[in-house]
Amino acid sequence: MSARGTILLLDDERHEIAPLAAVLESDYDVYMAGSGEEAVELASLMLPDLIVLDIHMPGMDGYEVCHRLKDNPVLADVPIILMRSPDDPSAELKGLSLGAVDCIAKPLSPEVVKLRINNHIEIKRMRDELAKLAITDALTGLSNRRGLETALDRETSRLARSERPLSVIILDIDFFKRFNDRFGHTAGDRCIMMVAAALTRAMFGGEDLAARYGGEEFACVLPDTSFEEAMDMARMIQHRIEALEIPHPSSDAAPYVTVSVGVASAPCVNGAKPEWWIKEADQQLYIAKNAGRNRVSGTVFDVNRLRSTSDPFRS
Ligand code: GH3
Ligand code: MG
Ligand code: MG
Repeated sequence: MSARGTILLLDDERHEIAPLAAVLESDYDVYMAGSGEEAVELASLMLPDLIVLDIHMPGMDGYEVCHRLKDNPVLADVPIILMRSPDDPSAELKGLSLGAVDCIAKPLSPEVVKLRINNHIEIKRMRDELAKLAITDALTGLSNRRGLETALDRETSRLARSERPLSVIILDIDFFKRFNDRFGHTAGDRCIMMVAAALTRAMFGGEDLAARYGGEEFACVLPDTSFEEAMDMARMIQHRIEALEIPHPSSDAAPYVTVSVGVASAPCVNGAKPEWWIKEADQQLYIAKNAGRNRVSGTVFDVNRLRSTSDPFRS
């Protein structure tokens, strides 16, 4: 949510909501729509924080707009306040049943409506914050395992539509137990934070996601990234972390903190399971560890083989 919050007002008779818009404008960015169609289009473009809409409109009425917004996964959680006419009290039950957070009777008292809006915006802010915390790792600020799994689910189904490649990188700090034993848990935590920061800097941004997968283990989801590109990225991550030169005299791999890295790439196909990428990257990590650590190991795996063996009922 932007600092000011964005509100979309919908009424076919603009003069009915103009006073409300005037009162809201000091605290919010306010947009107005004159028809249901326009409101649905505007809402998906600007992702407002709250929508106030009139039930009684020619063409697409407020209930239908409400339906459409709730059907759209991106907009389903945006709070909706409905405005009803004073002689239609049954609209309250119907509107609230459709998922609106509030239903108010016209004529509006702009000051009262603004106070109600303030409350709903505050609740939305807290809900957004909670949703973010639920997928964020507290120590590093990276996405946590849950956030990673959500992103991986989303990307596998998105990429499957065009069979584009997906790569996953998993990395694990080498001999980290010894680092903790030698320098203590607090220094260990600082080391994890520095590795996380180096990992973030190595990412290109866009759709790429870095996460703390477990204790001293991290993972990156790289949509639309070929095996070669992912291997380059993995080597860059490995070098950047070694270049931090965090002393690790107890490591058998190097005098500094290093990571071992596993890479798995495959084109996304229909029915591909997100966990395949994790499992294959994990196996590559295991290979990198066994080969002496502080190195990258990768594979392009065969999705069709996994697809045919993972479902015994598939012909
Ligand atoms: P390997 O090279 O095989 O990965 O060896 P390792 O010692 O890194 O692996 P192992 O799995 O034996 O130990 C991981 C250690 O990571 C043990 C645990 O105490 C430490 N660890 C996990 N999470 C945290 C954390 O949040 N903070 C700190 N300081 N240490 C952690
Ligand atoms: Mg380790
Ligand atoms: Mg580990």
